[in-house]
Order: sequence, then C-alpha cells, then structure tokens
Amino acid sequence: MGKILKAVIFGGKARVAVLDTTDTVNEAIRLHKLSPLAAAALGRALTAGAYISSNLKNPTDRFSLTIDGGGPLGKIIVAGEAGGYVRGYVQNPYIELLYRNGKLDVGGAVGRDGYISVIRDLGLKEPYAGRCKLTTGEIAEDFAAYLTRSEGIPAAVALGVLTGSEGCKAAGGVIVEAMPDISEEQIVMLEDIMTNFMGISSLLAQKSAEEILDFYFGYLDAEVFVPQGVSYVCRCGQKMEGIIKSLGEEEARAIISERGEVEIKCDFCGSAYTFGEADIDKIFGSD
Ligand SMILES: [Zn+2]
Repeated sequence: MGKILKAVIFGGKARVAVLDTTDTVNEAIRLHKLSPLAAAALGRALTAGAYISSNLKNPTDRFSLTIDGGGPLGKIIVAGEAGGYVRGYVQNPYIELLYRNGKLDVGGAVGRDGYISVIRDLGLKEPYAGRCKLTTGEIAEDFAAYLTRSEGIPAAVALGVLTGSEGCKAAGGVIVEAMPDISEEQIVMLEDIMTNFMGISSLLAQKSAEEILDFYFGYLDAEVFVPQGVSYVCRCGQKMEGIIKSLGEEEARAIISERGEVEIKCDFCGSAYTFGEADIDKIFGSD
C-alpha cells in the first residue's frame, strides 16, 4: 500500500507532504496495460489525486481531477474519495514513447493547450470546482499552479514515476504549501530544498517517505503526523444501477432487444457488467 506522510514545519508556517504511490501506480499499470509514458503521466496525476484525497475530511467526500491538454495521450481522469482511495485512466494508455532532452516527454504527451480541473464534492449543495490553465503539461507544475491559484495557497510540487522493465520501480511526490505568515527567508529555504526533488522517483527508489521527510525537512521545527495510506480502489459496482437509470428505460430496452443484454465496462478498473431483461425490469420497477 502507498503512503502519505505529512508534517508542518516552521512552527506551522508551511505544510509538507511526502507521497509514495508506487503500489498505486503499479495497480494502474496492471489494470490498464499502460505504456511507460502513459504510466508516467497517469502516475503523476494519481499522486496529485492522492494528495487531494488526503485533504478531504469526511469518508463520503469525493473528488475528480481532469487534465486535458490536447496532446496525443488524451485526457487524464483521476477520481477518489477521502482516505487515500484513488483510481484513474488515460484515453490513450498505449501511447508510444516520446523523449525530450533525454527524458520521457510527459508534457508533450499531455499537451499544454487546456486545463487542469478539480471538483471536490463535500456533500454540500454545490461541489467546489476549480480549474487552471496548463502551463507545461508536466503535471507537477500544473498542479502547483492549480493549488496556488484556485485554492489560494502558494504551493510547490514535485511528482515522479520511475518505470523499469517490470512496471513502476518507484512513484510519488513532495508537496509544500506556504501559509500566509511565512517569511521571505523561509520561502527561499523551501525553494532551495525543492530543487532536490527534480528526480523524486529515483530518490523514492532509494529512500522511504519517512527518510525523505526527516532528511530534508526534519530540522525545520517539524511536527510529523501519523502516515495515511494510499490505495487504488474502484467502487464501480455500487454505481452501475445508476448508470442504467441515467441511460433511461427506453434506451436500455432498445439495447436489450438489439443485443440481448446491456454491457457496461468501467473505465477506471476494466470490470464489465452485464444486465439482462430481468435486471432491467428490476431496475425500472416493472414486471
Ligand atoms: Zn471500476
């Protein structure tokens, strides 16, 4: 299982999170047969999603994160609930490798012509929706810009996925958020520390989240909280009846008469559900 380790530093003037999402990204690779480039992009987005999830308070709070940059990867969709439960998919999971300056070109795959959007449903009348124009398509910078502009908290974000011949060797990130009373000097210190995380996935392949937090932030008057788990969980089974209902009785019956059954495949986990005539009768309450 993955892990989110959080702390406050400078006596509460900044928040830090170190995320290890290696297992979560490996589950996404297994479910979607992701190419290494698709795994790098979706893995970064799943890590951002895990962070959003970790900030939700009630077990029923939910979120969705969409990154739509117009690139060959297509849209990235991540969703989840409070408690570190995330899932996600990309429109083109088999995308071939693109390189830029010797590194996987995630920005080129995602594209830069579009938005990062987050919807948080906290069970209130209206969900909170925020979006921010993409700058690099590399996801970390874009997520930082989203946190800074849409949520009003200046943030720095490093995200990374290290892929090997056998899936993902390490994945995760470091996120720092500055509170309003932080000093200029402390901001400069944090900017300096963040330069260590350009290769965060390689670092996570060698050190645990605890070691990273302790080594880079432990001396900054840090108060470390109990770790939270991160896992890839899909709850599509609970939603399928609702999907049939939203299809409408007429449409559902038209599909049944044409194909004998209605099949729905979940984009997030690949599970397939079939509904026959008796199921449709039950859902729409007729006999
Ligand atoms: Zn599913």
